[in-house]
Amino acid sequence: MTSAPFQRAVVVGLGKSGRSACELLLSRGVKVAAFDEKAGDAGLEARGVAVTVGPLPRRFWDGADVVVLSPGVPRSKPEIRAALDAQAKVIGEVELAYRLLPPGAGPLLGVTGTNGKSTTTALLGQLMRETGKKVFTGGNLGTPFSDACAQPHDWHVVELSSFQLESVVDARFLGGAILNLTPDHLDRYPDHAAYGDAKANLFRRLDPSGFAVVNADDPHVLGLGAHARTRLFGFTTQLTGTNAGFTGVAIGEGQSCMFLFGDRPRFEVRSRALRGAHNVQNAMAAALLASLAGVSSDAIQRGLDAFPGLPHRLESVRELDGVEWINDSKATNVDSTLVALRALTTPLWLIAGGKGKGAPYAPMVEAAKGRVKGVLTIGQDAPAIAEAFKGFTVVDCQSLERAVAEAKARATRGDAVLLSPACASYDQFQHFEHRGDTFKQLVKALS
Ligand code: ADP
Repeated sequence: MTSAPFQRAVVVGLGKSGRSACELLLSRGVKVAAFDEKAGDAGLEARGVAVTVGPLPRRFWDGADVVVLSPGVPRSKPEIRAALDAQAKVIGEVELAYRLLPPGAGPLLGVTGTNGKSTTTALLGQLMRETGKKVFTGGNLGTPFSDACAQPHDWHVVELSSFQLESVVDARFLGGAILNLTPDHLDRYPDHAAYGDAKANLFRRLDPSGFAVVNADDPHVLGLGAHARTRLFGFTTQLTGTNAGFTGVAIGEGQSCMFLFGDRPRFEVRSRALRGAHNVQNAMAAALLASLAGVSSDAIQRGLDAFPGLPHRLESVRELDGVEWINDSKATNVDSTLVALRALTTPLWLIAGGKGKGAPYAPMVEAAKGRVKGVLTIGQDAPAIAEAFKGFTVVDCQSLERAVAEAKARATRGDAVLLSPACASYDQFQHFEHRGDTFKQLVKALS
């Protein structure tokens, strides 16, 4: 066990990663004080963490060797700025975990981007496991990186949000991929460039012997490639002019892709969980990273075929009387529903609605033309969706229960029923997982 290079730590924010950071620090005998604006943690308190609930007090960092900042707390918050100005050592949970990895722990592969992080991370974990090695998969998705410190792993596949990347200092990654960059989190960043700059930290932290992977079709991501002082690889679906500056390129076509370097392996992306052009991009990113990390092409193909997918993302729930039922509850905005509509090729019944985010629904109508047989609306934004889908069959179902019953009555052999709400779920559910699980229960109960 690595002993901690500090005796006293302060953890700011007691969400999932903050709690994991506390656990890790406790396990290394570090004295921990934790702060959370809203809620404490009785379990941690019982084990000796000094928990304070409420605003951060003045000089909250006093006496601490390190301040571990949760991703939800911006570095620009005045109290954190004050700590930084006072030269307090402020790091994130990913950095903390990196510093406390056990002896013998293997290299890190990082994945970031606006969309597709979780899918690509989980898929890369699957590809790396095909080698029989012990692989940690987590970070922003699922298990916090701190949990990797309990025992050595051969590889660490880490999903990284821009917030986490802001507070990575010395952590070294062997490989990293930036998938795409669309305007997001503009409440936290002054502009799109600042958001991209946080993502670029992944490339700044690459080992010089390592490799960087970028989406060559995304001009902004392409620009971030300049921050990598390593070999640079690109993935694309349109070859024109994209090879320039790359050590190697992967090209996607339909549901397959090919590397235009080495012995030019070709991969089929045929798992149901990886339907759609967006998933071919995710597959290319994961396959490039895995291949550069030494996984054989055969093992990569095996892993692509075996990937079960993640819940709530184009998740095939069941087939009943020739109708496929698909849970895409993670689609909490119009862009995500568009991705789903483009990925599916059968005639569809779309269940959509919930707490809208103010974006127009018109682009969905374009993508729905010729394929969507009807829209079954639920939740608060049902009227706005009905308005956009004028001319389509639209049934105002209000509840998910009724929408499932309507879909069952209307769908015929060869159709699919897709829950891809384009809205947040909070008007009727606790979160998108709750909405998706409710849908799955209703669908599984059909006969
Ligand atoms: P993240 O962890 O970045 O949110 P997920 O893998 O959970 O990403 O996917 C979330 C949603 O983003 C999916 O439901 C899909 O609509 C969309 N998506 C996934 N991959 C991509 C991609 N490569 N490009 C654009 N959109 C994508």
